[in-house]
Amino acid sequence: MTYRLRAAVVAALLLSLVVAAAPSSAQEHPAPAAPAAAAPSPTPAPAAPHSAPVVRVTDEMRAHQRLVDTLYFADAAYGFVLLLAVLALGISRRLRDLAARVTGRPFVITMVFWALLTAVMTALTLPLDYYSHFVVPHRFGLSDQGLGGWLWDQAKGMLLGIVIGAPLAALALAGIRRVKRWWLALWLGSVPVMVFLILIGPVVLDPVFNTFKPLEDQKLKTELLDLAARAGISGGRVYQVDKSKQTKTMNAYVNGLGPTKRIVMWDTIISKMDHDELRFVMAHEMGHYVLHHIWKGLAFGLGMLLVAFWLAQQLVDRATRRWGRSWGFEVAHDPAVLPLLLLVISVFFFVASPVMNGMSRYFEHQADTFSLELTHLNDAGARAFVKFAEDSKVLPDPPAFIRFWRYSHPPLGERIVYCETYKPWEKGEPNRAWRAGVTP
Ligand SMILES: [Zn+2]
Repeated sequence: MTYRLRAAVVAALLLSLVVAAAPSSAQEHPAPAAPAAAAPSPTPAPAAPHSAPVVRVTDEMRAHQRLVDTLYFADAAYGFVLLLAVLALGISRRLRDLAARVTGRPFVITMVFWALLTAVMTALTLPLDYYSHFVVPHRFGLSDQGLGGWLWDQAKGMLLGIVIGAPLAALALAGIRRVKRWWLALWLGSVPVMVFLILIGPVVLDPVFNTFKPLEDQKLKTELLDLAARAGISGGRVYQVDKSKQTKTMNAYVNGLGPTKRIVMWDTIISKMDHDELRFVMAHEMGHYVLHHIWKGLAFGLGMLLVAFWLAQQLVDRATRRWGRSWGFEVAHDPAVLPLLLLVISVFFFVASPVMNGMSRYFEHQADTFSLELTHLNDAGARAFVKFAEDSKVLPDPPAFIRFWRYSHPPLGERIVYCETYKPWEKGEPNRAWRAGVTP
């Protein structure tokens, strides 16, 4: 799951590892590419029938999965170490002093500091990012993007991180300066920010990296509008995006809110799947839409963020008293504190990822159920998941710990079995997720 925008916003946003972590788990990568862990299926999973399509597991697939999993943890650990180093080696203090030379106004000092910090962090993480997100996908034949294009995407991500993050960081420090229980102030402030970012994501942020246009295939469009009408979605918007310039893997997702809400299909999925498979995938996306997963994910993420900010105040205040002097700050509203705040919040969300992903897997399983009930395309669904696994070179049955920690989706192997076996209509049993004729 390459996540430039997410990475950018995350790197950028003081207030919101959640923009990345929380709502996006429900919101993005709905189908597959970053498949994940065991959604506890309410039905005992029977063995797949003989005719079930099977993922061809290759040595290359195993090697790829192992490497990607290792890099995930290495990336996280490296990020934490870097933030600690920026504090302990006095880099944060020096950047603050540099920013203070430009201007005397605290708000602007923080904005300049944020820009400098973002640039330094981007430079220090670039080698590992290059390996993880350029070398590895190329080695496994998952991308043919040129180095120039890739670097340009990184630069755009960094600039976006500065433009969005700088005023937010300055606002956050102003809150810390004025409010005693600043964790609550920061959380309250982050609610409209999160809603706003999700709202503008599809129309302002995403187009920085890719070109979006209404679905071109008119026959497919008619089929999908038909499906949407049955799903209870009126006036749904379906877009296609030129992801093939960055990756050969495929995906589709739902994002936005209210007027910007939409379903987006990567051009790669349109070219690789047949219409039945696409209808199954799109019905899954419609399930997210109809079941309000974006709002629910947002609410869940904000709940986690509340805990994160509370913890942040406890730890930041304590650490400032104990190590602040040697790190170059004595109060928690000093811009040089920002790496510490980022460190606490990012460690929290890393440790909480099994919880966030567990929630996400539940949503994903619900969306699969919705899709099967709406379409009855069991075989096409199973075929689509086989394609996802083989195409993205991810194991259908990853190690248990990996599923638990980092899978935002049930593993593809489980989803294939579920597709082949979930047919309550054959026994006259009621649906669980999709109710005909009920509009949300
Ligand atoms: Zn999904």
